[in-house]
Amino acid sequence: MPERTLQQSVDRQLPTDEARDLFSLVRDLVQREIAPRAAEEEDAGRFPREVFTLLSDSGLLGLPYASEFGGGDQPYEVYLQVLEELAAARLTVGLGVSVHSLSCHALAGYGTKEQQAEHLPAMLGGGLLGAYCLSEPASGSDAASLRTKAVREDDSWVITGTKAWITHGGVADFYTVLARTGGEGARGISAFLVPGDAEGLHAAQPEKKMGMKGSPTAQINFDGVRVSDARRIGEEGQGFAIALSALDSGRLGIAACAIGVAQAALDEALRYATERRQFGKPIADFQGLRFMLADMATQIEAGRALYLSAARLRDAGRPFSKQAAMAKLLCTDAAMKVTTDAVQVLGGYGYTADFPVERFMREAKVLQIVEGTNQIQRMVIARHLAGPETR
Ligand SMILES: Cc1cc2nc3c(=O)[nH]c(=O)nc-3n(C[C@H](O)[C@H](O)[C@H](O)COP(=O)(O)OP(=O)(O)OC[C@H]3O[C@@H](n4cnc5c(N)ncnc54)[C@H](O)[C@@H]3O)c2cc1C
Repeated sequence: MPERTLQQSVDRQLPTDEARDLFSLVRDLVQREIAPRAAEEEDAGRFPREVFTLLSDSGLLGLPYASEFGGGDQPYEVYLQVLEELAAARLTVGLGVSVHSLSCHALAGYGTKEQQAEHLPAMLGGGLLGAYCLSEPASGSDAASLRTKAVREDDSWVITGTKAWITHGGVADFYTVLARTGGEGARGISAFLVPGDAEGLHAAQPEKKMGMKGSPTAQINFDGVRVSDARRIGEEGQGFAIALSALDSGRLGIAACAIGVAQAALDEALRYATERRQFGKPIADFQGLRFMLADMATQIEAGRALYLSAARLRDAGRPFSKQAAMAKLLCTDAAMKVTTDAVQVLGGYGYTADFPVERFMREAKVLQIVEGTNQIQRMVIARHLAGPETR
């Protein structure tokens, strides 16, 4: 019988030697600094702030942005595969990098040259960590109904309201905030860059979550927070368009994270299935499990191919919003299924914290919810196919 091989590391298609070097750096950092502490720190609910500082120092917090402002000039095709590696080791880190990128998107895409020169270098490679504030207690999927207000007073804006579910809430150095500056609906919303230590900005106690316990998710109260007009990003009323544009790219990040978690679950399931013996042979010999493993691997490859194809559209400057929604939907549903099946492969042991697959399963669930639930992704895709709903 041929010797069984464990799951080889993913055979990545990287476009340049620079990208291949980048991957050696990432894998080394993952093995030394992230993977060994992941299970223990997630269990303890500890946020690894020093890992984000290290990622920033290593040029990994601004990868898809222009080097002119401290970014890494990497195509999305490469950046997303880095996210996948990070998320496979620890979702709190992979998703954290994705959210940080999301929170830089407004300024990098819509800020003036002066705003970019002033703030971006510190955001992209100067050790700062960002958060993105769109959701509120009463407006989640219906984000355009948000109520946080920004009222103009001379050359400043005074922001009042409550944002909900904010990743890095309380630990972020800056918050990209969507607030209402005009009338009802999407056109009355503007974007602001708010420093984390602004007077009147308070983070509530982090939510007690099912998974990603190391990643703080908290409500942020804006109690008359004053920022100068120089911190308004884009035109007045352009905020919602900016927020949606950020989410198109952010959804690709979530898709890549989902495939990272799924791959980690498959690797663990394969390792276990080749070692565990029942009825006198490895359980990986039973067709019932072999087919399950084959389906898991196929879903992962399909998800990776879809997010990379959407990323290549983005890198080519072509529309990719529909494909980003499809990638987010398919990859996160695949991660839920693959991680659930991985628990099944491990039997009773899969249901314990002695093995990582139960954590992967808890982590996968949130990816079907964040940055637009998978119901909302289907709405986005259907609008691209059939136009807006008739009322
Ligand atoms: C861990 C975590 C981190 C997060 N991080 C951030 C962050 O950093 N910044 C941020 O701004 N937000 C963040 N969020 C918020 C997240 O984006 C919202 O939870 C999500 O958009 C859904 O909003 P909601 O929870 O209010 O659910 P609701 O919008 O109330 O939805 C409840 C259910 O109804 C369904 N539903 C709603 N409308 C429709 C419809 N039209 N058709 C069909 N089904 C529908 C939804 O799919 C869902 O199943 C985070 C959430 C979590 C859990």
